Amino acid sequence: MKDTDYKVKGSDVSNSFKNTLRHNDGLIFQQLEFTVTGLCNRSCSFCPRTDPKIFKSTKTFLDLEMLEENFSLLAKYDYSGRLSYAGFGEPFTHPNFDKILEISRKILPKSVIDIITNADLLKTKLGKRVLANKHFNRLLISAYDGIEQVKQLEKDYSDLIQKGKMVIRKRFLYEGDELDLFSSRTGLVDYGNKSESKTNPCFYPFYNIFVDSNGDVIACCHDWGKKKIFGNVYKDSILDIWFSKEYRIFRKLMFQKPREIEPCNNCDVDGTLYGSEAFSDWKEKKW
Ligand code: SF4
Ligand code: SF4
Repeated sequence: MKDTDYKVKGSDVSNSFKNTLRHNDGLIFQQLEFTVTGLCNRSCSFCPRTDPKIFKSTKTFLDLEMLEENFSLLAKYDYSGRLSYAGFGEPFTHPNFDKILEISRKILPKSVIDIITNADLLKTKLGKRVLANKHFNRLLISAYDGIEQVKQLEKDYSDLIQKGKMVIRKRFLYEGDELDLFSSRTGLVDYGNKSESKTNPCFYPFYNIFVDSNGDVIACCHDWGKKKIFGNVYKDSILDIWFSKEYRIFRKLMFQKPREIEPCNNCDVDGTLYGSEAFSDWKEKKW
């Protein structure tokens, strides 16, 4: 599986990481990822969702009021990092997804808003509203079904693609390709290309925060088993959780004994693609 679009994603994402925000307690994250809903309309064979023992589908939907409160807090710092809507669910299964995008853009106008979707629901009323309102920077389409699906998307959305508002990412095997895109989801799934768990420090906890659809803040988008929970945004603000003692201990361990604890001890993700500056800053200043 050739993931040629990762580079496109990389440069855009890097741009949203340039404005590092400093807080008295340390650096504020540069990427905020949300699982807006615990549902997905698909059940892909390679996804942890196919095994309820690993991952349970839940009718949980992030609440607009909670998001508004947290965005308002970030607005005080003029947050201009990335907001990513996807996580473990299909964002278009949230009935108010268009409103979430609207308040994101309104309260955090400088943020880079990315939606990651399987594209199945783009032609629903909700999908059409989102496309018409354009309160996002990019729709990143995970195309799983093959080249015919890609051609259809290119035909249907040529205008958005030309403007760079839609990027189609091929998520299927070509002849002779190897399945080398997916991680083992912290050892939970075996895609037949099992690689060893890594031992290097991972940068995720220094620049990235991940909110699940029930409000839990967990280690990162690879922690499908939800082994590490730092707090819940319905109880504490996202900044309080980011600067919490629990998170600090996790970062400290990442410096001193990288990947000794769950879920990182089973993780085969390198984790150094982004966030090197944030990592150095946290390390040098011992925030
Ligand atoms: S579309 Fe994505 S989240 Fe849904 S089952 Fe497939 S891989 Fe999992
Ligand atoms: S080591 Fe793996 S599980 Fe741990 S924070 Fe990094 S990417 Fe996530």
